[in-house]
Amino acid sequence: MQAPDQPVLRDIVLVGGGHSHVVVLKRFGMHPLPGVRLTVICRDTHTPYSGMLPGYIAGHYSYDEVHIDLSRLARFAGARFFRDEALGLDRDAGKVLCRNRPPVTYDTLSLNIGSTPQMADVAGASEHAVPVKPINGFNVRWLQLLERVRSQAGTTRIAVVGGGAGGVELTLAMQYRLRNELRTLGRNPDELSFHLLTSNPVILPTHNASVRRAFERVLADRGVAVHCNARVNKVSATRVQTAGGASVDADEIVWVTRAGGAPWLRDTGLALDADGFIRVNDSLQTVTDPMVFAAGDIASMINYPLEKAGVFAVRQGRPLAENLRRAVEGRALESYRPQSKWLALISTGDRYAVASRGALGFQGAWVWRWKDWIDRRFMRKFSQFPPMEAGRAVATPSSIKLDQEEAAQAISAVAMRCGGCGAKVGATVLSRALGALHPVERDDVLIGLHAPDDAAVVRVPPGKAMVHTVDFFRAFIDDPYIFGKVAANHALGDIFAMGAEAQSATAIVTVPAGLETKQEDLLFQMMSGAIKVLNEANCALVGGHTGEGKELALGFAVNGLIDEDMAAVMRKGGMRPGDVLILTKPIGTGTLFAAHALLEARGRWIDAALISMCQSNRLGAQCLHEHGATACTDLTGFGLLGHLVEMTKPSGVDVELDLAALPVLEGAEDTSAAGILSSLQPANVRLRRALRNQQEASSHPRYALIFDPQTAGGLLASIPPARAQSCLTALRVLGYAHAAVIGRVLPQGDALEPIQLKLD
Ligand SMILES: Cc1cc2nc3c(=O)[nH]c(=O)nc-3n(C[C@H](O)[C@H](O)[C@H](O)COP(=O)(O)OP(=O)(O)OC[C@H]3O[C@@H](n4cnc5c(N)ncnc54)[C@H](O)[C@@H]3O)c2cc1C
Repeated sequence: MQAPDQPVLRDIVLVGGGHSHVVVLKRFGMHPLPGVRLTVICRDTHTPYSGMLPGYIAGHYSYDEVHIDLSRLARFAGARFFRDEALGLDRDAGKVLCRNRPPVTYDTLSLNIGSTPQMADVAGASEHAVPVKPINGFNVRWLQLLERVRSQAGTTRIAVVGGGAGGVELTLAMQYRLRNELRTLGRNPDELSFHLLTSNPVILPTHNASVRRAFERVLADRGVAVHCNARVNKVSATRVQTAGGASVDADEIVWVTRAGGAPWLRDTGLALDADGFIRVNDSLQTVTDPMVFAAGDIASMINYPLEKAGVFAVRQGRPLAENLRRAVEGRALESYRPQSKWLALISTGDRYAVASRGALGFQGAWVWRWKDWIDRRFMRKFSQFPPMEAGRAVATPSSIKLDQEEAAQAISAVAMRCGGCGAKVGATVLSRALGALHPVERDDVLIGLHAPDDAAVVRVPPGKAMVHTVDFFRAFIDDPYIFGKVAANHALGDIFAMGAEAQSATAIVTVPAGLETKQEDLLFQMMSGAIKVLNEANCALVGGHTGEGKELALGFAVNGLIDEDMAAVMRKGGMRPGDVLILTKPIGTGTLFAAHALLEARGRWIDAALISMCQSNRLGAQCLHEHGATACTDLTGFGLLGHLVEMTKPSGVDVELDLAALPVLEGAEDTSAAGILSSLQPANVRLRRALRNQQEASSHPRYALIFDPQTAGGLLASIPPARAQSCLTALRVLGYAHAAVIGRVLPQGDALEPIQLKLD
């Protein structure tokens, strides 16, 4: 959404990827607001659409059909996506406190985090019952239950606590699916029994009598035992007990009732209602803080008490987007009046549904088809995007009101970008950003950031030799903290691949011109990530240079230490015939991030790739060395084949590379098969002349991946065959779950091409 030539003037931060925020993202994507940067912080990359959830449980939809991919949606909207969990707010400083990263700064904040099951006041519920929210947690337990019912013969008793629409729908959906599974396996579906418990005198208390009757009939026909006036007050591993003294034996207990606000909201100072939901006015603005908004289940509209339903969360999306816009522009906010009657389409699991609106009720298989049509149409809005407009790249005057100082900074930022010239970032910006960071201190750093000077002075201890390397690249993701981690990890990779320990690093940074406060925040976020990684490697950041440039970029010159006698050095040229090739991490980052840029990668593929890119090679290198590695390198931009060629040449050997054995990141085969490749790929493909059976291999589905450029890739090493298995086992214990033997080293043959691809 943020036009590249437009400096960031204001930050809108969206916490939670609920139904309202997905609408906000879509609307901002369609109509960007120049000068505003949107950031979404969400615990889950794939956020569930509640309307289709029972259909997923019943087996009518796949996981991807019922989840909105926030990573893709955010990319479409030009918003930054931070996968993280908010744990609190510092409203005085305008910051969201997160579980896994430094606080995130906002000018305007919106919360759409849904409701949280309240189980603490029911003895044993937290330990033994499975809450339906968060859905992703429930999904894990649901898949386990599915597997257990499939694999173990005998009865399974399931109790669902909560007789509202969610509880009723879920009960029927689970029952439909599990009975089908048993039938398919040739077993008796009556091995299953279901109980539905509600503290109310009736099920579906907020719906009309005809809808209630319809469901009472369905539940009775389907053999579900319904317990009304049954307030559960105790739960054990195998039983639920009610306040009235009755009990129901159960193997699985699902909790679909008593939701409240997240406990951390109590410390934010925001006014909450009795259930812990945030009190908001008709503009969805909190009654406490004009810069904080809330929508969906977490909001409690003081003038309109609403049922907690996704339909309201969706409807609030449009006015929320409008009011966030107006708030940053300093305009009067719009009032939103929710509808008094709303249509609920409640399914019975078996492709049949009941419609409920006010006093109206009707049902049928056609109602389910209608619901299915509405739901799929809704989901398409968040998965099929119009082409990005070229006009977005053009700077448009911002409508945001700035003070004099900010206006001057904004004008000079635009001038700077137009000229494209680089300049040093102001000393105060830099010192404030770095002042809050704490690089590791080492005795051999004589002059470093603790006593800044023209240059750092570092001692090389006696008996040690110094190892130098440098790396630099543009931000390929919009999360500066994670980018900082990846950039530092990538730079350290060379040091570890040599068998050295990291000692010190200097950073080279470019940040886009803009308001000083925004630059400072960006630097702080990015360098926090980098310093975390450097500190973990005991590598002291001793200095650096920060300039302004068109794009965010970061690199490091890293120094390492190694024994002077070179005994520990792992070079590229030591491979011996008979050795086996081990690769410690999966490949595929180039094609995946090319696809990410084109909105063609699934969010979870990108998550997994980033986790892999943030994994250090330090322990892997030690392990390879301990297992007698004869040669080693880290995979970077040249891709697997490029690095292999770099190793075979000086080693004077040939290798056989087993394509089937290559560890590959999830999604990379799909994206490369779709022809989505990194811009560096063509240069790497020139090395195909090193392949003996290139013609034959070129149609193999993994062929393109051997040229795929890697960022912060794994280590590629040759290991004596006798130690290969124990090396692999040790690598896996160290957390390199995808480490694999990917080929073997052969004596140099007569052929000019050193590499043979094994294709089956
Ligand atoms: C089985 C079932 C079926 C239902 N069916 C329907 C239906 O058909 N129609 C209907 O209208 N309603 C239905 N509901 C109700 C509906 O699920 C909720 O009302 C709706 O999900 C609320 O939407 P929301 O946008 O407020 O929050 P949610 O959809 O709950 O989304 C919250 C988001 O915030 C994220 N999040 C939470 N905490 C944090 C944090 N601390 N930091 C960062 N991110 C966070 C979550 O990961 C999630 O992405 C159903 C409920 C259940 C249980």
